[in-house]
Amino acid sequence: MNHESRNATILEIAIPLYLDKTFHYLVPERLREQAVTGRRALVPFGNRKLTGYILGIASDSAITNLKEIIDILDNESLWTAEELEFFRWVAGYYQHPLGEVLRTALPAGINIQTRKGAAGEQPTMTGGKSARREMFYTPGPAANPARQPGAKALDILAVIREAGDISAGDLRKRFGSCTPQLKRLAEVDLIQAEEREVYRDPFKDHAVKRDEPRTLHTHQKKALETISDSIDRQQFTPFLLYGVTGSGKTEVYLQAISRTLERGRNALVLVPEIALTPQLTGRFQARFGGGIAILHSGLSDGERYDEWRRIRRGLARIVIGARSAIFAPLENIGIIIVDEEHEASFKQSDGLRYNARDLALVRGQMARAAVVLGSATPMVTSIQAAQEGRLKLLELPERVEGRPMPVVELVAMKGNKGTISTTLSNCLSETYEQRRQAIVFLNRRGFATFLLCADCGKPLTCPNCSVTLTYHRQRGQSLCHYCDYTVPAPGTCPSCGGTTLEELGAGTEKLEHTLKELLPTARILRMDSDTTSGKGSHERLLARMHDGNADILVGTQMIAKGHDFPEVTLVGVVNAEASLGMPDFRAAERTFQLLSQVIGRAGRGENPGRVVVQAIDTEHYAIKAAAEHDAAGFYRQELEFRREVGYPPFAFLAAFAISGLSEQAVTEQADVTARLLTRLKSELKIRVEILGPVPSPMYRLRNRFRRQILLKAANRNDLHRLLAAWRQRTTAVSTVRISVDIDPVDMM
Ligand code: ADP
Ligand code: ZN
Repeated sequence: MNHESRNATILEIAIPLYLDKTFHYLVPERLREQAVTGRRALVPFGNRKLTGYILGIASDSAITNLKEIIDILDNESLWTAEELEFFRWVAGYYQHPLGEVLRTALPAGINIQTRKGAAGEQPTMTGGKSARREMFYTPGPAANPARQPGAKALDILAVIREAGDISAGDLRKRFGSCTPQLKRLAEVDLIQAEEREVYRDPFKDHAVKRDEPRTLHTHQKKALETISDSIDRQQFTPFLLYGVTGSGKTEVYLQAISRTLERGRNALVLVPEIALTPQLTGRFQARFGGGIAILHSGLSDGERYDEWRRIRRGLARIVIGARSAIFAPLENIGIIIVDEEHEASFKQSDGLRYNARDLALVRGQMARAAVVLGSATPMVTSIQAAQEGRLKLLELPERVEGRPMPVVELVAMKGNKGTISTTLSNCLSETYEQRRQAIVFLNRRGFATFLLCADCGKPLTCPNCSVTLTYHRQRGQSLCHYCDYTVPAPGTCPSCGGTTLEELGAGTEKLEHTLKELLPTARILRMDSDTTSGKGSHERLLARMHDGNADILVGTQMIAKGHDFPEVTLVGVVNAEASLGMPDFRAAERTFQLLSQVIGRAGRGENPGRVVVQAIDTEHYAIKAAAEHDAAGFYRQELEFRREVGYPPFAFLAAFAISGLSEQAVTEQADVTARLLTRLKSELKIRVEILGPVPSPMYRLRNRFRRQILLKAANRNDLHRLLAAWRQRTTAVSTVRISVDIDPVDMM
């Protein structure tokens, strides 16, 4: 492909740095053949050597003393022209340097690749023996040593920092022998060395029972027909598949994918990271067998790179992954599915702050594909888009086989001291006696168990971050979930030295304890960030529940999502309103979604479900609507509220985050930024509301002070014009970091 760039003398190259432009380089005679669009090149930049991405020929260059490319790093193109168009769109929309977009889009493990000229060492795609081991180098914890290493060592260090992760072999190809320098750099902690397997077997045999497509019920059939029509016509159509929990959305996805494959096109499936369980991927494998690539965060850089290459080479026709899979090198895409489209985890929260759910629509449009956004609790903005016809609405209003939605009882906890109400405790005993399973969900978005000083009344807080420390009884520690600051607990109060520290809030650990007292013989599983930190522990806990080796599953929001446990007939919700306290305009939406999802876990099998929702305030519309299965009522009320206060979908947002170690510098920079924005806004005569600067809800995080400015506009174009103008005029202060988040999701 792109033969036009062969024999070119000047190339346009993107460099992964925070620079808003691309660069021109000369191609020396010896590299003419290989200097092709889509490959990476090693280029001189200042006094460093960096990896750049060849975008194409520069038709002419105004610059006279251009530097030469040093080397070409790939044998094959890493992206197609169509993908580059997508990357350019992403760079433009998120106002992010193209080189950085490319670096984010390509797998980190690409640096492991054996360089050109070593064809015999090319990785094999199909289950090589994974025996070869090699040293790899990554930047170390030290920033600068007291004694300067030599010039060559500094060059090597620059390359390692640039690559992020690079093999000894690759370093030798650039620098010749460099063992003494590497040793020296590692001694002073400027780099870290690690021995790894070079190529891994991407196919791990899972014996999966094959299954057959189900006979669809009326609503599923209608949804599938509409989607199939768009697949057949190879026409971009965005759908909202709005189906209550257990209504058979996944079955619709599977059959729409079959149709796509039959038409000779490929399928991309995006799911929240937490839903990438063997249970879900197993359903795809059971239906389609091989040819599926799975991209999840549990893969090492190398394993991810192997999956990436399988996709690039056309060996996988279905790609399933979390948000970064939106950049998968899958060609000829006929359908993109975004399951649980309302999940906040589709948004990347640092670096390139993209939203994979939104990008699915962009990539789908470029590929002329059907895009199916599926959810039992769509985003408020999606509901509005469907009402306006921007998304085509497909509804699955009933559960499969006419199974009833669970009966929900709201229990007011006002004045009730215990964590578990009499109603819930009676239901739990009953369910246990019937040998059925129960889930107890603790809503702890917003707070957990913490210690409060009985003398001065202050909670124990983190000295680095403005958050309450979470108390872990088992570990005997209070710790900060943001920076890992830890103190022995209960301990003494840092404010007044008091020694009587009381436990407040309800953690999962405490809840587990209470349940054990209530039902001493029941087998209770706890699932939260503590019990699932080990590799595979999440799956093991779910499997135990699935196999009937547990009676009660206790956990946080991670148990709310996507699991299908047919034997669960009771769901209890503790602290239903906790998530309403989040300082975020989406608090009601999040609470409604979370509660609806948890409620939907009950009665998915043959036996009907029952749910007990405990809340202090049972009158809040988000809680009431979820309990009454009144989604329409919730969306109506929430859209009214959004319209009144001017939030999405009735406004477009961008958030500036200004942070640094010096409080004064941050305050000053935030004021300067707001003033510049205000001036530009009146110069350009555009209507954008500038809110702030204000301290971020999490004012201190990992020792950094944080302020934010929120921009609100009725017109997306106005917002983008203002941001572009700001980018041209801003003068950065090196000690303060300013980041801009387009369509922010989390504003903590
Ligand atoms: P959702 O994705 O909407 O939560 P699923 O697709 O997981 O729903 O369906 C719930 C259960 O019903 C699954 O066990 C699935 O295999 C089954 N199912 C789905 N569609 C049908 C159908 N048409 N006939 C019988 N069973 C079905
Ligand atoms: Zn902290």
